[in-house]
Amino acid sequence: MLSLHQVEHHYNGVPVLQAIDLALAAGEIMCLLGPSGCGKTTLLRVIAGLEEGSGGDVRLEGQSLAAVPAHQRGFGLMFQDYALFPHLTVAQNVAFGLRMQRLPAAQQPERIQAVLRLVGLAGFDGRDISTLSGGEKQRVALARSLAPQPRLLMLDEPLGALDALLRERLVVELRDIIRAAGLTALYVTHDRQEAFAIADRIAIMNDGRMEQLDTPEGLYMQPRTAFVARFLGLNNVLPVQALTPQGARTAAGTFAVAGAPPLVLLHPDAITLDEDGPLPGTVTERTFQGDHYRMQVQTDAGALRFRLSRAGVVPLVGQSVRLRCDRVIGLSG
Ligand code: ADP
Ligand code: MG
Repeated sequence: MLSLHQVEHHYNGVPVLQAIDLALAAGEIMCLLGPSGCGKTTLLRVIAGLEEGSGGDVRLEGQSLAAVPAHQRGFGLMFQDYALFPHLTVAQNVAFGLRMQRLPAAQQPERIQAVLRLVGLAGFDGRDISTLSGGEKQRVALARSLAPQPRLLMLDEPLGALDALLRERLVVELRDIIRAAGLTALYVTHDRQEAFAIADRIAIMNDGRMEQLDTPEGLYMQPRTAFVARFLGLNNVLPVQALTPQGARTAAGTFAVAGAPPLVLLHPDAITLDEDGPLPGTVTERTFQGDHYRMQVQTDAGALRFRLSRAGVVPLVGQSVRLRCDRVIGLSG
C-alpha cells in the first residue's frame, strides 16, 4: 500500500535518514522502533509530506507522492502532545479534524458520534478538554485523526506523555480501535514493550538507517545485529574469538552457528541452571519481578542475564551455579 524507496534526508548537510526501504500492506500496523534521535519523526514527516526528502521516493499504491502536497495525501497524524484546543469541546476538537474534508455539514455530527463511539467516548461531546484525564485526551486526539477516515494513520509516540500503567492499557486499546476501523497505521515509539503490543511488524531504526524489519516474535527470537539484540533487552552478546570446524569459539564455549559472525547472542530465554552445564559462574543479581526473578551470573565470559521462574529453585546472590544455553545466535556487529 505504502512503499518507501531509498528515502534520504539531510538537515544542513547532516544525514538523518539513509537509504530507507519500507513497504506497508493495507490493514497492517507497523512500528518504527528506535532510540531518541534515530530519525523516526523525520521519517514520518517525510511520508506525510511535511518535510521534503533529500532523495528517494514515497509511493502510495505504486504512485509517487513527490508532487502531492501534505493536505492532499489523506494521511492522519497524531502526535505526543495531542495539540488539542483546550477552549473547545470534545466534539469541536473532533470536528476540527474534518475541516479539510468536503464532508457536508449535515453529515458531520453523525461522523463525530461514530468516532467518539469507536474510541469509547460516547456522550463526551460537550465536555471541555480541560476536564478530561490524560487517557481521555489521548482518545480525543485519536478520534480527531480518525474522523476524516485517513488512508494511513501515523502516530508519533502517542502515549509518550502518559504514565507506564496507563500506557500498557491504552496501547492495547489503540490497537483494537485501529483494527476495528480497518486502518493501515505507522506507529512510532522508542519503547519496545509498546511496539511488541501493537505491531504486526516492527522496523528497528538506528542512526538514520533501517536495521531490521520483522514480526515482534521474529525480531525477538532471531535478531540479526548486536544493536537489535541489545535494543530488545537481549544483552548476552559475546565476541567470537575464532571460527573452528565445531563452530564459533567464545569465552563461554564453542557454538554451532550459521556463517562467520563476529558476535554471538546467548539468548536469555534459553539459559538454564544445570549442574552438568558447561558454564560455571557466581550469582551476582537476583531480583524479584513478580512471576519470575531477573538473574545475573558472572562467568569467565562476562555477566550473563536471564530469567528464572519463581516455581523452580532460585539460587541466592553469591552462590556458585552452572549454566547451559541451548539457543545461540550469530550476530553481525
Ligand atoms: P526521533 O524522532 O527518532 O527522536 P528525529 O527524527 O526527531 O528523531 O531526529 C533525528 C535527527 O535529526 C536528530 O539528530 C535531530 O537532532 C535532527 N533534527 C531533527 N529535526 C531537525 C531540524 N529541524 N533541524 C536540524 N536537525 C534536526
Ligand atoms: Mg521523535
